[in-house]
Amino acid sequence: MNVYTSSYLKSILNSKGMESRLEDADYIIINTCAVREKVKQKIISYLGKVDKIKKEDAKLIVIGCLSEVEKEEINKKFKPYLVGLFDKESDLENIGKLIEGDVYKTKIGSVSRYLPVIFGCDHFCSYCIVPFARGREKSKNLEDIIKEAEEIYDEGAKEIILLGQNVNDYGKDLKIDDGFMVLLKEVSKTPFQRISFLTSHPKNFKLKWISEFKDIPNLLQFFHLPVQSGSNKVLSLMRRGYTKEIYFEIINKIREEFPFASVTTDILVGFPGEDESDFLETVDLIKKIEFDRSFVFIYSKRPLTKGYQYEDEVPHSEKLRRINYLIKIQDDITLKRYGEYIGKEVDVLIENIKGGSGIGKEKGGRVVIVEDVTDDDIGKIVKVEIDRVNIRELFGKKC
Ligand code: SF4
Repeated sequence: MNVYTSSYLKSILNSKGMESRLEDADYIIINTCAVREKVKQKIISYLGKVDKIKKEDAKLIVIGCLSEVEKEEINKKFKPYLVGLFDKESDLENIGKLIEGDVYKTKIGSVSRYLPVIFGCDHFCSYCIVPFARGREKSKNLEDIIKEAEEIYDEGAKEIILLGQNVNDYGKDLKIDDGFMVLLKEVSKTPFQRISFLTSHPKNFKLKWISEFKDIPNLLQFFHLPVQSGSNKVLSLMRRGYTKEIYFEIINKIREEFPFASVTTDILVGFPGEDESDFLETVDLIKKIEFDRSFVFIYSKRPLTKGYQYEDEVPHSEKLRRINYLIKIQDDITLKRYGEYIGKEVDVLIENIKGGSGIGKEKGGRVVIVEDVTDDDIGKIVKVEIDRVNIRELFGKKC
């Protein structure tokens, strides 16, 4: 969501030919995150650095989650010109107007583009600060989404990624029955070569949708479903609203319908109450499911959340041991799963070229680095033979 916000803001500020150079800037906009304590510390330290480097009369604007939940601290320490969430397009346009008066959105030339469809979250998982930072769920109007999607297509994008903290909840607040599926079907009528969505919640991910996804031929076969823990006790303490059995059922159904799909997850280690046996249940889940990739994080207390009241009893050294253990297991699984692609041909949508190699995704969303591509290939689907892999990417040559 922050990547989208920054790129949208940039497209507005570029309308007046702005340049980005910290030392000379009249306005400095910093987009922040509040998801973990370490992130907060990094941002506060960065704001301190900026404060020293910037011109004396430069105006500081701090946006994003941290600016909402730590407004007081930021105001006190850095005296910004403006501080607040500013996550909607209209908020960002107002920032642009404030700085430059009459601004307009300029073309964002990316092949793959984000489009937020729902903001905020109603779930209040006990470790998560997002509902406090971003507020309750608010879906965009369906007609507006389709109009924005068409504009994005007209700007040259070939892939659209529908975004939401809880994208599966799309339309609930608008009282649209099965809103997420209605949205997907409508967006699939646009001419994008690929459609994808982020982030799903296992609690809201309906089993019946998985068969319906098959009717959407341009859907990227990529499913990111944060499981967080393999222990039902910990899942309940986290207030996630599902059990590991339900989670297994969803993944089994995805793999049955889409054998080549990539399935990825997020895992949190060291949540209060997670003992060794709970951790081993997470290990067991990772081994059984064999995710394509897992993003593992260490729990840290976040203010305002329910978890803030829990005693943070897992020592940091133990959290480190658990995260390193899981990362190692996942790396081995990724290498094994990705390794199965060696010698195979995949269809890759080339998004850009960096360091002489093309970068794109195959139809399961796995990142592929491609040799022998030219600027003409950008935005096109090319056949690639995979010859090697690592824990992040597949590598190959254009056939
Ligand atoms: S579903 Fe839970 S983890 Fe996801 S944004 Fe909402 S509160 Fe946070």
